[in-house]
Amino acid sequence: MNVRHDEHPFAETAMSYLSYVTPNATSPWHTYLSQVDRVLPYLGPLARWAETLKRPKRALIVDVPIEMDDGTVQHFEGYRVQHNLSRGPGKGGVRYHPDVTLEEVMALSAWMTIKNAGVGLPYGGAKGGIRVDPKKLSNKELERMTRRYTSEIGIVIGPQRDIPAPDVNTNPQIMAWMMDTYSMNTGSTATGVVTGKPIHLGGSLGRVKATGRGVFVTGREAARRIGLQLDGARVAVQGFGNVGSAAAELFVGAGAKIVAVQDHTGTIVNPRGFDMQGLMATLHRDGGVGQFKEGDRIDDEAFWDVDCDIVIPAALEGQITVPRANRLKARLVLEGANGPTLPEADDVMKERGILVVPDVICNAGGVTVSYFEWVQDFSSFFWSEDEINVRLDKIMVDALKKIWDTADQHKITLRTATFAVACERILIAREERGLYP
Ligand code: NAD
Repeated sequence: MNVRHDEHPFAETAMSYLSYVTPNATSPWHTYLSQVDRVLPYLGPLARWAETLKRPKRALIVDVPIEMDDGTVQHFEGYRVQHNLSRGPGKGGVRYHPDVTLEEVMALSAWMTIKNAGVGLPYGGAKGGIRVDPKKLSNKELERMTRRYTSEIGIVIGPQRDIPAPDVNTNPQIMAWMMDTYSMNTGSTATGVVTGKPIHLGGSLGRVKATGRGVFVTGREAARRIGLQLDGARVAVQGFGNVGSAAAELFVGAGAKIVAVQDHTGTIVNPRGFDMQGLMATLHRDGGVGQFKEGDRIDDEAFWDVDCDIVIPAALEGQITVPRANRLKARLVLEGANGPTLPEADDVMKERGILVVPDVICNAGGVTVSYFEWVQDFSSFFWSEDEINVRLDKIMVDALKKIWDTADQHKITLRTATFAVACERILIAREERGLYP
């Protein structure tokens, strides 16, 4: 970690593309490759192993045929990608969304590798997904699709091999179906095969809100370090699902005001700050917050112009583009979502003095409590919610401190610093294990 960019033999290494990947400048995989290229100068001799980070270890594409309620048969395409298993079993969520592609799942799995190593969890990185609009399925169709998908990826997952969890449009009920299907196929109840399960099926207290809590903890620490008071701070949240809503609640608890919210049903603003209970009630009633009466509805694009101190992108990838980064008013961006910022937009924010706490540390609270859940399942001994939250807080604060120190030492962004800390751990494991055969 002590080699200067211009001296390093790998400094000119171009991004490498795999034959089945489109080199599309805004694709999540392209974003991930650029992020890896930015860290190469800080890896020293370990950079000789860096190509391993640019290729998923294993990618499975599965056909998921299901019988619909009307008797017809529909086929969905599903994926499970294990990006890197150097430090332990694969770990990462499963996404149901109409835009899911192999390339997207590859990027999400790679970010899991970085995230897990960055917070020091004993996992590699993996991710899964199905290209589907789950809102168009009945509950029974959703269950059949989940069970068939689990069966198809059953050849690569397992409590010691690869442990899925919830992501966009998946939840504890879906994890329960996955756990049951895997258990039926293997002949014994394997609670440790997925995390994010319901509590009475081996789930962990605190898991549902853990990602949002991690966003809050890293945001609180970052705000303290840049002298931004949370009491009275104005926060804009994009994506009001599991991550965005939990983070928003905790910021409001610390005295902040939620002044703008955007989800797939629209964008609303209220400079006085939204009433959280009202927002949550609208979310539960309508499945979105776009129709909440206590705010003014604005154009979706105007979200990026809202006067605020903190922006939390907590929806999908590729949201902060260069034009949007140029318009942001906030001092602090907390990446609840995975991959919300394009690399060039990162540069713009750096130039404008906007601090970005990157996804690979900011949203690591979810996988950290998933790790706690997995440990509890193995030991069949369950912790209190307080214990979970205290341990989560400490892991996030310690991880951010190490990343912050690394950023200060090399004068690099928190994103490149997280990659530096994580890649060093991954590549040391790679080197110590050696190349088989
Ligand atoms: P979710 O399904 O609970 O919520 C997604 C939210 O995004 C919803 O509010 C939805 O309306 C909104 N959304 C979807 N499309 C949108 C669009 N085009 N414009 C604006 N809003 C849109 O999902 P989640 O679990 O909260 O995940 C959100 C992000 O956080 C994803 O990037 C996910 O990978 C990441 N993440 C989730 C977890 C977790 O534990 N759930 C952990 C780490 C990272």
